[in-house]
Amino acid sequence: MKQRCLTIFCALTLFLGMVPAAYAEVNSDSAPVLVGLAYGNGALDGANLSNGVGTGFRFGYLDEERNFWQMGYTSETAISVVKTQNVWYGPNAAYDSGLNLKSYSDDITSEIAVGCWHVQLPTEVEPVSFEETLTLAQSYENAFPAWVDGVWQVRLGTYTSREEAQVVAEQLGGAVVGTSSYGVSVVKTGTTTVLFQFDGGENVSLAVNPGLDDSVKTETNYRKRRYYGLFQFCRVKGENIVVSNLLPLGEYINCVISQEMSPSWPIEALKAQAVSARSYYEDNLGRHADYGFDICSTTDCQAYYGMTNVNDRTLQAVKETESLRAWYEGKPAKTYYYSSNGGGSEDVKNVWGTTYPYLCGVIDPYEETISEKISYWDYTQTFTAAELNRIVQPYIQSQGYNCAEIVDFQVTELTPTGNVKSISFTDINGKSWPFTQKIATKIAKSYLGLKSIRYTVTKAGEGAGSGVYYTDGGNTVSSMNNTYAISGDDSVRKLSGNPYVITGSGIQFLPAPSGGAAQSGETVYTIHSSGWGHSVGMSQWGAYAMAQQGFSFDEILKFYYPGIEIY
Ligand SMILES: [Zn+2]
Repeated sequence: MKQRCLTIFCALTLFLGMVPAAYAEVNSDSAPVLVGLAYGNGALDGANLSNGVGTGFRFGYLDEERNFWQMGYTSETAISVVKTQNVWYGPNAAYDSGLNLKSYSDDITSEIAVGCWHVQLPTEVEPVSFEETLTLAQSYENAFPAWVDGVWQVRLGTYTSREEAQVVAEQLGGAVVGTSSYGVSVVKTGTTTVLFQFDGGENVSLAVNPGLDDSVKTETNYRKRRYYGLFQFCRVKGENIVVSNLLPLGEYINCVISQEMSPSWPIEALKAQAVSARSYYEDNLGRHADYGFDICSTTDCQAYYGMTNVNDRTLQAVKETESLRAWYEGKPAKTYYYSSNGGGSEDVKNVWGTTYPYLCGVIDPYEETISEKISYWDYTQTFTAAELNRIVQPYIQSQGYNCAEIVDFQVTELTPTGNVKSISFTDINGKSWPFTQKIATKIAKSYLGLKSIRYTVTKAGEGAGSGVYYTDGGNTVSSMNNTYAISGDDSVRKLSGNPYVITGSGIQFLPAPSGGAAQSGETVYTIHSSGWGHSVGMSQWGAYAMAQQGFSFDEILKFYYPGIEIY
């Protein structure tokens, strides 16, 4: 994969004369992974890092193999990397657009301007290293070492206008230098003290390696989360700073699975999640090549929130599945996963319209064995006819369907694994409006608030045709106490805490009245639903249940992704 931010290293390597810290071979758990933490519209004017474990920071860059080459260092424990334009810190600047920091006010209580205008000081001898430049800078107040396109410079001050810098330049006999498209300054957080300025043009970006002691495994705070590894700050196309986190694949997988499953879950389930996450990484590799990183940290690729939740068990799961991935016919499998399916996963074709033989949908007998643990297992929602119309009708109309007042709502077809394939609404003119896939799912999830595509709809009340009424003797029902239901065949049943009623076609669930406002005879749709997520691929709760029953991680994966190989 082509890295926009990296190249031109031979010259640098000779110039710096250092040996890089090495990463190991591609595709193993020790291979380096660059995870994009901030990019696109989320790219930053400035980013704060502070030491969690380890002290100080080393400055340098990454070569094409992502080895870190050190140029300089600081013993400061909180640094901010800002673009070389006028940048303000502080709570009021946090959400400004344009020149201000977007969200980097974490520990900053006053507003501080880091100006992009500096005075470049003449030197008798051209310095050739960070240390030499730093020594020269130390004979001035507010001077700092800068590395600009391969040349070390002593620069001074952070002025927000050329004029201010000009006054000082004349006093000291220096030249004014200003903003640049690709430069970044490292400052001591919350101050205007520049520790290092780096400008490698379009091709070389600043990397920051936390900690000065190689024997300490570092943890670094960034945006209120904690991370292993290094950071890269890349101004792609001269824009705001793209922040990436560099760490070995195994550590990245450890972080991902600790977020996706509770680290207390059965080890075989954690191992299945590790293989799944590794395959997912492999499959998404290169999606963000334009930004110079491998995979992003959001659910666009795979959620990654640093190392906050890792523990010995997540680490064990990574080690016991070292470098293993799921494959189908020699290609990385698309190992989608979700929380629970309620009894059957779904063919990807019925969900997203694509076809993969191993994403075919299976009847899932495992979740039920631990249903008491699963959130959103067998839950119920009710909608009055008026609510259903208010919620759903405008959406149907917005899709170009001239649906009048809805008088009926039914599930009309199930998939072979028991999920909803199509639904239909009937309007007051007797016209049917059937929907499948995208629109059906959109109605279920976005408008009715269901968590999955596994549900049933029952209708009760005046419009149900079965003659169900319930009453407490008055006009409203505020509780189920002393409430009776009369069914279509005139039988009467007292309602208890569980609001079931007898209808013309048997006993049906009836919703508890909300706010005492339920009207006698009003049509009500009751939706029983189970599962949480898209239902394509592996159920995490199913993996939990299978692990508890003694299945191994590869058996779990092969159950949910039939036909895959693991190696
Ligand atoms: Zn992504």
